Amino acid sequence: HTDPSQHRIHALDPRLINQIAAGEIIERPASMLKELIENALDAGATAIDVDVDNAGVKRLKISDNGHGILRQDLAMALSRHATSKIQDLQDLEQIATLGFRGEALPSIASVTRMTIQSRERGAEQGWMVSSDGNNLTTEPTPVAHPVGTTIETRDLFYNTPARRKFLRTDATEFKHLDQIVRRMALSRFDVAFKLSHNGKVVLHLPSVPADDPRRLKMVCGDNVPENSVYFTEQREDMRLSGWAGLPSFSRSQADMQYFFLNGRLIRDKTIVHAVRLGYQDVLFHGRHPVYVLYLEMDPARVDVNVHPTKHEVRFRESGAVHSFVFRSLQRVMSSSAGEVGSLQVD
Ligand code: ADP
Ligand code: MG
Repeated sequence: HTDPSQHRIHALDPRLINQIAAGEIIERPASMLKELIENALDAGATAIDVDVDNAGVKRLKISDNGHGILRQDLAMALSRHATSKIQDLQDLEQIATLGFRGEALPSIASVTRMTIQSRERGAEQGWMVSSDGNNLTTEPTPVAHPVGTTIETRDLFYNTPARRKFLRTDATEFKHLDQIVRRMALSRFDVAFKLSHNGKVVLHLPSVPADDPRRLKMVCGDNVPENSVYFTEQREDMRLSGWAGLPSFSRSQADMQYFFLNGRLIRDKTIVHAVRLGYQDVLFHGRHPVYVLYLEMDPARVDVNVHPTKHEVRFRESGAVHSFVFRSLQRVMSSSAGEVGSLQVD
């Protein structure tokens, strides 16, 4: 007989819980940066500055000019499942922001040394908190900061050596960081992005109007707009727009395909299939189209609460979405038939 007062099951320490969550969403500097840029965009930022040393492992700093965080919310922002973005089930069923789970900051804080500086719109000054592996080390202290938020992390995975082992070379990690900034920059042409690495500006993207090909050129290459058809298609409450690469501009790999749903980059089987089908009459076997597409629809008709990283979504009427995307691309391709050459790039 065992002693009934003894337990084998116990609740985990909050820091460990955060580190477990970090295991799901924070794989490398780039996944951390994705979460931080999403937060800046959710805060209404129009300019986002990213400055990293050693590919963000040693130091990653992101500044935005969004609405900032209240002094009294700074500690809360680092608590798990704490968010300003949703309140009840009804909100959860029509997510209009990129974040909503309240997991990113506590997860990042649990595997880095972090400082947050923020000044709320309307506040007279900024405030700063620091945390060390999730332990808040200070009460907010006053700091000079323009309206907006600066988050700085140091020594990613310093306290979780098992995860640190999986980091690749700085060159590889930086490539991922650069990819994230480019993807986010494709999602919001109206937001300026800057990326600096080891003290040098490596990417500077001024804000431009929503469908301005200059942003596309800077992110994907000068030749992309001229080898693509820009189009807009509308069906009921769904709107698909963007650049569909000409068949003559196809690639041997599916490495230049971006699909944004309500501003969020997704990798969805239904969508990939629909696009492929839209191209099937005009593309040779084994070739992959280039595309940067934007689907806008009522957020209530799609569930983004499927996976912690939110790359996957569930459409409530996936058949309707599939046929809309497929038919749109088919129409675009058939009407651009004149421009379809036999030249193959790459
Ligand atoms: P979520 O984005 O899911 O709400 P996070 O852990 O990423 O969760 O962020 C927690 C909260 O901190 C957000 O809900 C938001 O209120 C605040 N926050 C985080 N980053 C910023 C930022 N750059 N500007 C303004 N508020 C922010
Ligand atoms: Mg977030």
